[in-house]
Amino acid sequence: MGKVLVIGCGGVASVAIHKCCQNSEAFDALCIASRTKSKCDALRDKLAATTKTKITTAQVDANNVEQLVNLIRAEQPDVVLNLALPYQDLTIMEACLATGKHYIDTANYEPEDTAKFEYKWQWDYHDRFVKAGITALLGSGFDPGVTSVFSAYALKHHFDEIHYIDILDCNGGDHGYPFATNFNPEINIREVSAKGSYWENGAWVETEPMAIKREYDFAGVGKKDMYLLHHEELESLALHIPGIRRIRFFMTFGQSYLTHLKCLENVGMTSIEPIEFEGRQIVPLQFLKAVLPDPASLGPRTVGKTNIGCIFRGIKDGKEKTYYLYNICDHQECYREVGSQAVSYTTGVPAMIGAMLVMDGRWQRPGVWNMEQFDPDPFMEALNRWGLPWHEDFHPALVD
Ligand code: NDP
Repeated sequence: MGKVLVIGCGGVASVAIHKCCQNSEAFDALCIASRTKSKCDALRDKLAATTKTKITTAQVDANNVEQLVNLIRAEQPDVVLNLALPYQDLTIMEACLATGKHYIDTANYEPEDTAKFEYKWQWDYHDRFVKAGITALLGSGFDPGVTSVFSAYALKHHFDEIHYIDILDCNGGDHGYPFATNFNPEINIREVSAKGSYWENGAWVETEPMAIKREYDFAGVGKKDMYLLHHEELESLALHIPGIRRIRFFMTFGQSYLTHLKCLENVGMTSIEPIEFEGRQIVPLQFLKAVLPDPASLGPRTVGKTNIGCIFRGIKDGKEKTYYLYNICDHQECYREVGSQAVSYTTGVPAMIGAMLVMDGRWQRPGVWNMEQFDPDPFMEALNRWGLPWHEDFHPALVD
């Protein structure tokens, strides 16, 4: 039993907090701290009568290390679960170092003024975390997160060597809007408008945005177009899966989404360069975020399913083998259970599981680690128990 401090109170945090409250055997206390305290209070009021977990709330600016340190000292959590934005990763890691608390997040650090994400900044903290005797677990969402655990599980139980991994992220959900993003619009648009890339034979191959397109027939969803993107777990899996020859990441997008995105790009609305507007500086992408639907409001409107998983190809006992591990999640079922759509759900559940495994010691090891560096078995078991059951296919269709 222990206490978690959750930082952030948006779409993903709301699901993780619901799940911590369902799992009050592990989490007997929880503090929700975010920029806007009224959101934390509203969630506490909704959940307090339904759980044995004791909930407190606080206001914090997670860009400010001193405020974070004071909060952690006052609340004395066992682990800090960062569900704010990737911009806050390093300040929260600093605060964990200053207070000797374990750290978990779901997305790697990205500086606010350059749309570039990579693990380097956070991996550079490894020696300091080792010295402090505390664990940092990076990327405990679905992708990265569950996809990384799937890779470790496939390697442990099904292959002697994995040569190819294709990660397929399909959202077959329909929210009825011509254009909306399923998680934070600023982060989402920065990700999909960047150049694509994949890892092959020890080097990165870069592509123009959305230049590589394939169609795939997803279980539970049907046929969808998907596009190759750069994605953060490629970077760590390329290092941690021995013998790997190629890793690619594909995400599905509908035609309406792509047409709107192209148009917004063409008129400059996705830019992160500040511009002068009526005497003040604004960032076009941040303004766009303000006019788009809040992802948290999509829950009641979204119907359909997500299907996210990994197709592995490699060698077992001298023979070629293929193996597909995936999860199907239904938007409306998620909404009925926790009041959120499946994209927040598929991220929030693994965030709770990562926090639980670090807190109870099963995934504790001083240093900064990616998900595939721990034993996948307790995580895989917890996915089945906490709402993200997985399926196996030993003869999947392959992506060319
Ligand atoms: P939201 O925008 O819904 O929520 C972000 C929350 O962080 C809000 O409550 C916001 O406060 C709070 N916040 C932002 N800045 C600060 C700050 N300076 N201090 C304190 N709180 C702050 O985002 P999501 O819930 O959609 O995403 C959360 C994280 O999950 C992101 O890092 C995202 O990249 C990651 N993610 C990971 C996925 C995966 O599979 N690994 C998939 C999807 C998302 P306020 O309410 O005031 O705005």
